Amino acid sequence: METWTIQKLLNWVTQYLTDKSIDSPRLSAELLLSHILGLKRIELYTQYNQPVAKQELEKLRELVKRAGGHEPIAYLVGKTEFYSMEIIVTPDCMIPRPETELLVQRAVEFLRTRNGIQFICDLCTGSGCIAVAIAKNYPNVRIIATDICDAALAVAVKNVEMHCLQDKIKLLSGDLFDPIIPQLDVGKFDLIVCNPPYVSAAEYEKLDKNVRDYEPRLALYAGDDGMDIYRRIIEKVDQFLKPDAALMMEIGYAQGQTIKEMLEQTGIFAEIKIEKDSHNNDRIASAKRYSLDQI
Ligand code: GLN
Repeated sequence: METWTIQKLLNWVTQYLTDKSIDSPRLSAELLLSHILGLKRIELYTQYNQPVAKQELEKLRELVKRAGGHEPIAYLVGKTEFYSMEIIVTPDCMIPRPETELLVQRAVEFLRTRNGIQFICDLCTGSGCIAVAIAKNYPNVRIIATDICDAALAVAVKNVEMHCLQDKIKLLSGDLFDPIIPQLDVGKFDLIVCNPPYVSAAEYEKLDKNVRDYEPRLALYAGDDGMDIYRRIIEKVDQFLKPDAALMMEIGYAQGQTIKEMLEQTGIFAEIKIEKDSHNNDRIASAKRYSLDQI
C-alpha cells in the first residue's frame, strides 16, 4: 500500500485545489493538513517525511472535497487569523478580512492620541474580531459590541473568552445602537467602529461563490445600493459620540464619495477622511467630531 507522507499529501492537496481554482492553494492545503493533524503550519515542514494514518487521511479527504467545492477554509478549520491573532469563526459569522485590519490600525492609532480610559462602541461585531483586536492592542478600553444576530454573538463570546477580554468587552444583542440605550452606565463614546454589511443588490449576485454561497447574507447585503446600514448609523451617531470623538467605518470599494457626503451632511464632523486599501479601493471612512472649543 502507498505511504502518504505529509510532504506527498501537501503536494497532492495543493494540486487538487489548484485544479479547482481555489485561491492560495498551497496555504489552504497547509491549513487543512495542520488542522487535521493538530500541528502548527511550521511543524508540517519539520515532520515532512512522517506518514499520515488512515483515519486522518479519511478526515482530510472529506475536508479537501468540501474546499474544492469552494467552502471557505476558515469555516472548515473553525478559525482564521486576524491582526496576528487567532479568531474562531463559524458559518454564523463573516470571516474577518485582511482589509479590516486597516480599520483596527486606524482605531488603535486614534486611541494612542488620547488619555485615560476609552469608551468604544463596535457595531455589527460579528465574530468580535474588531473589538478583540482593539482591546488586545490598546488595553485601556471598555468596549460595547452589538450584533443583531445571536448566533454570531455566540461566536464573539467565544473569541472574547479565548483572548481573556471579558472585563473589557461587553456583548449586547440587538440592532445597531438599540441595545445601548438602556445601558445607563455608558452614554457616549470616544470611538465608534463598524464593519457593517455594505454589499449592494447588484454586487451581491456577483460575489465569489465562496462568499455568496457560504457566508451569512445578513452580514453582507445592505439593500439596493448597499448603503442601508450606513444611513441608519449616521442618522443616530450624534447621540452617541462625545465631542472630539471619532467614527470609523469600513466601506465598499466605490462608496467613498457617497459616504463622505453623508457624513458632511450631519454637520457634526470637523474632519472627514476616506482612505484606500492596498488594492487602491475605498476602504475606511474616518470622521472626527468637533471638539467643544470648535463649536
Ligand atoms: N468586503 C466584504 C466582501 O468582499 C464585504 C464586507 C461587508 O459587507 N462588511 O465580501
